Amino acid sequence: MITPPRLRFAPSPTGYLHVGGARTALFNWLLARKTGGKFLLRIEDTDRARSTDDSTRAIFEGMTWLGLDWDEEVTFQGANLARHQRDAHALLASGAAYRDFTTGEELDRLRKDAEAAGEQFRFDRRLAELPADELQSRLDRGDPFTIRFRVPEGATGWVDMVHGQIEFPNKDIDDFIILRSDGTPIYNLAVVSDDIATAITLVMRGDDHISNTPKQILLYRALGAALPTFAHLPMILGSDGKKLSKRHGATAVGDYHGLGILPDAMCNFLALLGWSPGGDREVMTRQELIDYFSEDGLLKKAAVFDATKLEWMNGQHLAQTPIDALDAYLRPFLVRADLTTAEAIAERTEWWHRLLELLRVRARTVNELVAQCRPYFVDEVLYDADAAAKQWKDPAASAELLQAVRERLAEGEWEAGAMETALRALGEARGIGVGKIFQPMRVALTGVAATPGIFDVLLAVGRERSLARLDAAVVHLTRSSIAG
Ligand code: GLU
Repeated sequence: MITPPRLRFAPSPTGYLHVGGARTALFNWLLARKTGGKFLLRIEDTDRARSTDDSTRAIFEGMTWLGLDWDEEVTFQGANLARHQRDAHALLASGAAYRDFTTGEELDRLRKDAEAAGEQFRFDRRLAELPADELQSRLDRGDPFTIRFRVPEGATGWVDMVHGQIEFPNKDIDDFIILRSDGTPIYNLAVVSDDIATAITLVMRGDDHISNTPKQILLYRALGAALPTFAHLPMILGSDGKKLSKRHGATAVGDYHGLGILPDAMCNFLALLGWSPGGDREVMTRQELIDYFSEDGLLKKAAVFDATKLEWMNGQHLAQTPIDALDAYLRPFLVRADLTTAEAIAERTEWWHRLLELLRVRARTVNELVAQCRPYFVDEVLYDADAAAKQWKDPAASAELLQAVRERLAEGEWEAGAMETALRALGEARGIGVGKIFQPMRVALTGVAATPGIFDVLLAVGRERSLARLDAAVVHLTRSSIAG
C-alpha cells in the first residue's frame, strides 16, 4: 500500500444507499482518516436508465448522516465520457483493442447456438478480423462497431489486501467490450479511466467485484498506468447465512436513521462486518475506530448482519456518548415528535440533561428514548393499559393510596431525602412495602411502570406537575371504581 493512500467510494445511484455500500464507504473512510490519506466520492451514473437523482441524494444523505465526509470535489462518472472515449481510442490506436462490427443479432444467434450445444459462449476474436479494405469500407459506410479489448495470453493476478494472491488465467477472460457502439463506455473501462485520472492508489470494494479486477488490471497495463492496490471486502450475510437482502429487514442506511440508530453506533456496527480490532473489543467511538483500524484486521470470511446486536450496540452508544453530543443529535427528534420547541428546550438545558442522564441508560434506540421522554415534556399522561391493569388492580384502593401519597408529598419539601422519609413513613403506617406505593405512583406520574427511580421521576416531573398528576390519577381511578 502506498501511504498515504488515495481511496474512493464509487456507488452507482441506482437505489438507496444499502448497508453493504455504507460498509465499503466506511472502510475506505477509516483507512483514509487513519493514514492521512484522501477519501474521494464518485457517483457512477453512467447507467442513465437506472440512475436517479433521488438515489444520488440518498447517497449524500446517508454519507452525511454517517459522518463520512469526503475530500476534494464529488465527481460524476457521466461527466467523464469524453475521457473514457479517448482512452478507448488510445487502446485502439496501440493495438490493445480492436473494432468489432459483429451486430447484436449475430451475437445473439451465436450465444443461442452455444447454449444449444451446451457450451458457454465465448467471443471469437477471428469474427472481428476483417481484411483491410472491408474494414475501411465499413468505416466509410459508418457501420456501427464496438471496441473490444484484446485479452493477451497468460494469467492476471494481484496480491489482494484481504485475500492475498489471486490469479485468473486469461483464457477464461473473453475479449470484452470497452466502448459500446453508441460510444458509451462499459463499467470496467470507466472505472479504470476514472481511478487513473483521480490517482487512486487503493481500490477497496465488495468482493462481488473480484471477477472484474483482472480485466481492470489488464486495462491499467495497456493504458500504461501504475496499478493500485486492491482490497475486496467480504460479503455481508443475513442471520440465515444467505446474502443480505430486503427479506432480512431494513437494508437501507436511511431506514436505520429512521429507526433511531445513532450514526456512531451504525459506524461501529458496520466496522465489525469484515474487520476486527483484535481481542474482544467491540464498542468503540468513532475516534477509536480510526485509531484501531488497520489492514491487518481485515477479515476474509463473510460477515453476518445481526440486527439485535446493532440495537444492543446502539444502547451502549446511547449510554456512553458525551451528553452534549447526544443532546445535539436528539433535539430535532424531540421537536419533530412535538414534545418541545427549540426555544423551550434551550431554556431548560440543565433540567433536560439531568433527565437525559436518567433515561439514556434505559433505551436501545433514539425512538425508544424519545417515547420515554414524553411524560416529562407534555401535560397529559397516557396510561399504558397493561401497566394500569397490573399496578392499579383495585381502583378504589389505588385512588385512596395515591390520595395519601399526594398529601404526604404536598406537606414536605420537594427534595429526594424528605420525600423518601415521608413515603417510607406512609408505608410503615399502612404496613406495606414501599414497592407497593412506588409502582402505582409510577403509572400516575408517567403512564408506565418502568421508569427511573421514583424520586428522580418526581424531581424531573416537578412539584406542581407531579401533584397534578396524582390528583388526575385519583380522579381517574375513582371514576373507574364507580363505573366498575
Ligand atoms: N459502481 C460500482 C458499484 O456500485 C463500484 C465500482 C468500484 O468500486 O469499483 O458496485
